[in-house]
Amino acid sequence: MTTETLVPVDEALTRYDPVMGLEIHIELNTTTKMFCGCPTEFGAEPNTQVCPVCLALPGALPVVNAKAIESAIRIGLALNCEIAEWCRFARKNYFYPDMPKNFQTSQYDEPIAFDGHVDVEVDGETYRIDIERAHMEEDTGKSLHVGGSTGRIHGADFSLVDYNRAGIPLIEIVTRTIEVPGDKAAAVARAYVSYVRDLIGGLGVSDVRMDQGSLRADVNLSLKPKGSTTLGTRSETKNVNSFRSVERAVRYEISRHAGILDQGGSVLQETRHFHEDTGTTSSGREKSDADDYRYFPEPDLAPVSPSREWVEELRATLPEPPAVRRARLQADWGFSDLEMRDTIGAGALQLVADTIEAGATPQAARKWWLGEMARRANEQGADLDSLGITPLQVAEIQALIDAGRINDKLARSVFDGVIAGEGTPEEVIVGRQLEVVSDDGALGDAVDRAIAGDPDAAQKIRDGKQAAAGALIGAVMKEMRGQADAGRVRELILEKLT
Ligand SMILES: [Zn+2]
Repeated sequence: MTTETLVPVDEALTRYDPVMGLEIHIELNTTTKMFCGCPTEFGAEPNTQVCPVCLALPGALPVVNAKAIESAIRIGLALNCEIAEWCRFARKNYFYPDMPKNFQTSQYDEPIAFDGHVDVEVDGETYRIDIERAHMEEDTGKSLHVGGSTGRIHGADFSLVDYNRAGIPLIEIVTRTIEVPGDKAAAVARAYVSYVRDLIGGLGVSDVRMDQGSLRADVNLSLKPKGSTTLGTRSETKNVNSFRSVERAVRYEISRHAGILDQGGSVLQETRHFHEDTGTTSSGREKSDADDYRYFPEPDLAPVSPSREWVEELRATLPEPPAVRRARLQADWGFSDLEMRDTIGAGALQLVADTIEAGATPQAARKWWLGEMARRANEQGADLDSLGITPLQVAEIQALIDAGRINDKLARSVFDGVIAGEGTPEEVIVGRQLEVVSDDGALGDAVDRAIAGDPDAAQKIRDGKQAAAGALIGAVMKEMRGQADAGRVRELILEKLT
């Protein structure tokens, strides 16, 4: 274990410029796998969604999933890419225990989509990210290392492998090098991943859930001394699984690379693991550009040559471009530029849209996601969409507030319950006895006790000073643990004393 010298990011950026490259893997939501008919549903018993093809038994022959090709083309078009007139799959040969074939069926020099771009916005500035390629490949299985304290293979007693995920269609989106002002690099990386999430989510071809691994990002980063044109050696931080972590991984690697370079050292070209708990990365495996995967065209699969007519048909099915959609939503919702920017920056655009779709007002949707939910996400170091509460539930809770059954304060308790898995908002209200009491019998008794307990305040109200009612309302709310209908309590106090 080597101790790393870290240089504060701000200081590092006075001497170096970061150069990034981002790779995003998108798991498609086809109902069957890339080259066989096995189901793709998440969370099944291990090794129940497998067949001779995805287990690579001798003699098994793959057949390409047409729906996956269609999804790949739609993704390519949405990323403003060219779509290949003819392309092939290739075998990428390497050994990995969770990869039954010992090669991955991928694409090499003939990707289905290439030469695209997207524009992302950070702090009101637009940055163009060039897309080198988007290619098709298949996912690997999953290893589970049992017995060690870290969950990694070192120190484990034994390992288990689950091939359910092996063969699920993936699209890998690779950017060209990204060079933006150093102080914006981390935010641009985050904004890009968030943008791609929204873009692909809008196509309906993937669940794009970072917390479930259906969207995974690799962050490549190198530093070059200011004024230099020579690229430094890059590290590849793999499988970063939240937007926030993308940003933190960029910042950590800037600090780490600067520490090495300042001491005259050389950065090792390697993969790195990101650690959510500490925000740090650690060494994975060494990697060189000379790694020889012995790529060769896959002989068992026919080349893919989508007709231009089909490509144009698919282009016509694309949803409106994100910039157009954002402008339309902003107008529909009546958000200010700042409100809209904050919503997008928080990765909450789709959540807010879905909450409004489910019946909440735009301001209520924004208030909950950017206030209460953002606070919780921040505390947990998680993204908003992995908090365990859905837009529909947020809209339901707001409807319960609007109906007077709970107030904002009680709503927070309902959020707690829903997130803790206690059921629907309705079930949490019943289970936790959270309903606002507006029944005159119960409220009247509490009002009588409050009046008896504070004769001074009561006398002031009798003398016409209605502002004194606040003290009595406070006493009633306290007695009823915040569950009294404050408006009705006020009316009852004034009825009794004036
Ligand atoms: Zn299969």
